[in-house]
Amino acid sequence: MILQIYEEIYKRKTFTIPQIVDALMPEYGICGRDYIRKMVSQAVFKLVREGQVRKIGDDPVVFENLYPTTEDPVEVNSKICPVCGKKFYPRRGIQDKYCSRRCYEKAKTTRRKADTRKRVRAYMHSADEKAKNKGKKWTHSDDQLLRELLEENMTHKEIAEKLGRTVYSVRWRVQKLGLAGGVNHG
Ligand SMILES: [Zn+2]
Repeated sequence: MILQIYEEIYKRKTFTIPQIVDALMPEYGICGRDYIRKMVSQAVFKLVREGQVRKIGDDPVVFENLYPTTEDPVEVNSKICPVCGKKFYPRRGIQDKYCSRRCYEKAKTTRRKADTRKRVRAYMHSADEKAKNKGKKWTHSDDQLLRELLEENMTHKEIAEKLGRTVYSVRWRVQKLGLAGGVNHG
C-alpha cells in the first residue's frame, strides 16, 4: 500500500489527504478508510519532513508536491474569491464560492443593498407611466406650484404625482429653476 500512496502523491502537484485516500479505496478499501487515512497521513508527513511536500492551505488542508513525476500533474481545483480576489480551495457550503465566511457575508450585504436600491428606484418611478402631463411644457403656474410644494417639504415623488409629472421631470425642473439644495431628495 505504501508504494501506491507515494505513487498517488508523486503524480500530483497539489492534493489533500482525503483525495489520496479516495484514490486508494478501490484497491485497499477492505483495510478500512481510517486505516488508509492513517497510512496516508504518515506518508505525507514523512515527505513534509524530507522537504518533498509542503502545506500550502489550511482550510481545507492542501499540500503541494514540489517534485511531481509526471509532466502534467493533477492539481486540486482552486477558485478565485469574487470578493477579495484570493485563491482558495473550495469546500462544500459557504466556502464553495467564497474564501471565507467574511467574504460570504460581505457579498450578501452588497447584494441586499443592491436589492434595496432597486426597490426604492421602482417605487420612485412607479407613477411615471401614468403621469398625465408627461412631456408637456412647464407653465408659469406649474413652476409656482412646484415652489410651493417644495416649501411644504413634499418629496419629489409626491410632487410628481400631484403635478402629473415624472420624478425625472420634477428633478430636472428643480435644477433648472435653481431650487435644489433644500432638503427634498425623496
Ligand atoms: Zn475572499
